[in-house]
Amino acid sequence: PETAALVAGGVVNVADFPKPGIQFKDLTPLFADGETFHAVIDSIVEHYTDADGTLAFDTVVGVEARGFVIAAAVAYAARVGVVAVRKAGKLPRVAHSAAYDLEYGQAVLEVSEGAFVAGQRVLVVDDVLATGGTAEATLDLVERAGGVVVGFTVLMELAFLEGRKRLPGRSVHALWTV
Ligand code: IMP
Repeated sequence: PETAALVAGGVVNVADFPKPGIQFKDLTPLFADGETFHAVIDSIVEHYTDADGTLAFDTVVGVEARGFVIAAAVAYAARVGVVAVRKAGKLPRVAHSAAYDLEYGQAVLEVSEGAFVAGQRVLVVDDVLATGGTAEATLDLVERAGGVVVGFTVLMELAFLEGRKRLPGRSVHALWTV
């Protein structure tokens, strides 16, 4: 099956999680199925590989926490390194931080000292693009840390939340859009 159908088959809708009124997309079945996970990861690497087999990125960033699972697998398949963008207070050597708005209040993302060589081409991955706040903060953080964002990939995009509007000029790739 094509990639979008594979992703769709691995997502379960959960009503009223984490709050009443939210339709949460649970991607754990996708991660738990070996063949699906493998195909999804390969399709991300292929998307950023040209006809000569040249990769468009030098390293992969994953956003805590489900983004780590995807980023590590993409990095391994592409034989590049992986960098974690983490929630506040987890990294021992913070170089840069970015605050972003949640529905209620704010959250902060951080990146380590020396995460990127200046000019390094970075692919950022996460599981879901919703309002785009997380992605906007992450891409900003990566660039302040010296990386050059060449793409942002998610397994699933909730287009009705218009997250792309917060990422003008960015190359956004979603394997499945609803
Ligand atoms: P945004 O900042 O509103 O775009 O939300 C994206 C972030 O929240 C990502 O890191 C996702 O992991 C998480 N997220 C938001 N909605 C969902 C969902 O329905 N399922 C899984 N993760 C979600």
